[in-house]
Amino acid sequence: MPIYECRKCGQTVESSSMPGCGSCPKGGCHSWMILCNRPGNTTWQCRKCHKTLNCETIPGCGSCPGGGCHSWVRL
Ligand SMILES: [Zn+2]
Ligand SMILES: [Zn+2]
Repeated sequence: MPIYECRKCGQTVESSSMPGCGSCPKGGCHSWMILCNRPGNTTWQCRKCHKTLNCETIPGCGSCPGGGCHSWVRL
């Protein structure tokens, strides 16, 4: 199942379809976008915010609290 990330609060959730609005701590709805289409055994870490994610292929840009895209490196 794809992993989605909220571009406002950075919360991640695994879901087969776009998750619902929910309640974003930054206000209003979460703003979901796909971070990883194929979760797997490869661990990636963002050099800027140190978030980690298990994904077969390099995760998407997402929204890094450090600014701009996450900067993924394979662990
Ligand atoms: Zn959110
Ligand atoms: Zn980051």
